[in-house]
Amino acid sequence: MENYDNKYEVLKHYFGYKEFREGQEDLIDGILSGRDVLGIMPTGAGKSLCYQVPALMMKGITIVISPLISLMKDQVRALNEAGVHAAYINSSLTEGQIAKALQFAARGRYKIIYVAPERLTTYGFLQAMKQVDISQVTVDEAHCISAWGQDFRPSYLKILDFIAMLDTRPVVSAFTATATEEVREDILKTLRLHDPKMLITGFDRPALYYGVVTPLKKDNYVLGYVNQHKGKSGIIYCATRKNVDKVYSLLVANGVSATRYHAGMDDEERRMAQDDFIYDRADIVVATNAFGMGIDKSNVRFVLHYNMPQSLENYYQEAGRAGRDGEEAECILLYSGQDVVINRFLLDSKEDNPDLTVDETLEIKRRDEKRLQAMINYCLTKECLREYILLYFGEHKKCECDNCSNCQMEYEEEDVSDIAKAVINLVMELRGRFGTGLVCQVLIGSGNAKVRQYGLTESPSYGKLSGYGEGEIKEVISELIFQNILKKTDDRYGLLRVADGAVDVVTGERSVILKKPVNNDALDYENVSAGMKKHVRSASSRSKSKASTYVLNGKGDELFEQLRQLRLDIARQESVPPYIVFSDKALTDMCVKTPATLDEMLDVSGVGENKLDRYGKQFLDKILEFTGGSKPKLYLD
Ligand code: ADP
Ligand code: MG
Repeated sequence: MENYDNKYEVLKHYFGYKEFREGQEDLIDGILSGRDVLGIMPTGAGKSLCYQVPALMMKGITIVISPLISLMKDQVRALNEAGVHAAYINSSLTEGQIAKALQFAARGRYKIIYVAPERLTTYGFLQAMKQVDISQVTVDEAHCISAWGQDFRPSYLKILDFIAMLDTRPVVSAFTATATEEVREDILKTLRLHDPKMLITGFDRPALYYGVVTPLKKDNYVLGYVNQHKGKSGIIYCATRKNVDKVYSLLVANGVSATRYHAGMDDEERRMAQDDFIYDRADIVVATNAFGMGIDKSNVRFVLHYNMPQSLENYYQEAGRAGRDGEEAECILLYSGQDVVINRFLLDSKEDNPDLTVDETLEIKRRDEKRLQAMINYCLTKECLREYILLYFGEHKKCECDNCSNCQMEYEEEDVSDIAKAVINLVMELRGRFGTGLVCQVLIGSGNAKVRQYGLTESPSYGKLSGYGEGEIKEVISELIFQNILKKTDDRYGLLRVADGAVDVVTGERSVILKKPVNNDALDYENVSAGMKKHVRSASSRSKSKASTYVLNGKGDELFEQLRQLRLDIARQESVPPYIVFSDKALTDMCVKTPATLDEMLDVSGVGENKLDRYGKQFLDKILEFTGGSKPKLYLD
């Protein structure tokens, strides 16, 4: 293997990229100067390159500790494709294979070795490592070392012992996407990093479109959506196994290429489902949140949430599996009031941890509820969704991103204080004994049995809003709950009470403003094609959005499709996932640059020397066949 002393050359030669992304260079420089580093960057930001580039430039080898077998496989495959000697050692290998790998490792055959943390302090591994020069130890998914985090892996604690057993201490680099301060402190402390260079990049993912929709029939929306995104890779998350089965059957019955994944299936079925998705044998996977850990598939173009998740933490992680390649992708949440009920039920049936005290258990429940409420508010807010997410994760940034459903929706403001006052007065009068339905009926002056039975025709509020429709009043009530002017009980009765802000509304000190979408068409999700208009709109306006990627035109899409097919054929021959051959981003860049020579091909993002040798000609021929050697413009401005 050639040795490079210029990081840009390494970047281009092996990975085919011309520029580093935010944060990468600083971390690489830190490592090369012999300093420990901690890099905190969101999913898809490109953490791997931060240790792989220095690994290729330093004298000895790099040991990478990674928590999941699938992650290791993926990384090693990608490195091998790029022409780097790398291997993994974990329990998916037989004893014989492990012995062989260790032998090769001891002879310095690999530049980068991925290992599971359990293996680090085993005799065989240590013996092999004694014979080589280790220049870097990298801890990937470093949050696994935090005992307070969700993904704690006790075996990560062995990393320290391992480092201590080495004759000379190598540079230690650690990477994670978990931003909370507790976890960060934990990593620094537990890993005992020496005067580390710490780098935290912004958590925004500009190429991701965020949307919340409230379709009358979610199934119609899903079908309409996947039909509009044929051939694109996507994940559809559902809250329950039952929903997974239902949506999966719906898709299959409609001829959509899909697979499914949930904890009720056996290991083999799940492994096959995962592979079908990764190898693009199925476009779509319908799954519970059991799916996704360890999936580095870079060309996921959309993540739909059929149900609202329990927290924004979960949502951001799951939605974040879209667009790892930096190309545009969509994250759309299908919300309905029923989701709140499902989630409350799931939280209630969560088993208590017997090791915790009553107080601690209550505290956990309180936090769960708080997280759920923040998630619900994400679905209800009319402000920028991106800003909402970033604020939640502690990044204060004024946004108006123009790349979320709220920013793209035109609203007009309506003062509904009068309706609000009437509602509040009645809710006060009823003293928390009734829910939204009855409140509405009394206000519009309905003569139904229940209203009469409780003598509410005598109420001073009876018929007070007779000129309004029930839907309008309901909308105001939802807004009042959202603004914490009214409260609704969590049980199935949903009884209404007044909350803190109510008095100010009644006295006229505070007005209640409702933001209503101007283009009602876009909200008509019953009619799927109308619902889709919004996405068509978002695609065209996105070409000018902050994401720096190109949007292909019709012809461009045609060429892309041909290249995608070629990629699929090659991937099948070589038994690797297609995105390991070339990312979607690389294919898009080919369509944009329409290279006419191998030299020009090398200019494409993601085409390094090794991939040029292996696949350059085939892709070039396909492009030439399409363009006839001319340079048509295949993208929108
Ligand atoms: P992370 O571990 O931070 O989630 P990865 O390291 O898996 O992200 O990288 C995500 C994707 O970004 C990969 O497809 C990778 O090839 C690509 N990538 C990384 N660095 C660059 C770069 N400088 N230019 C273009 N693409 C990059
Ligand atoms: Mg990673």
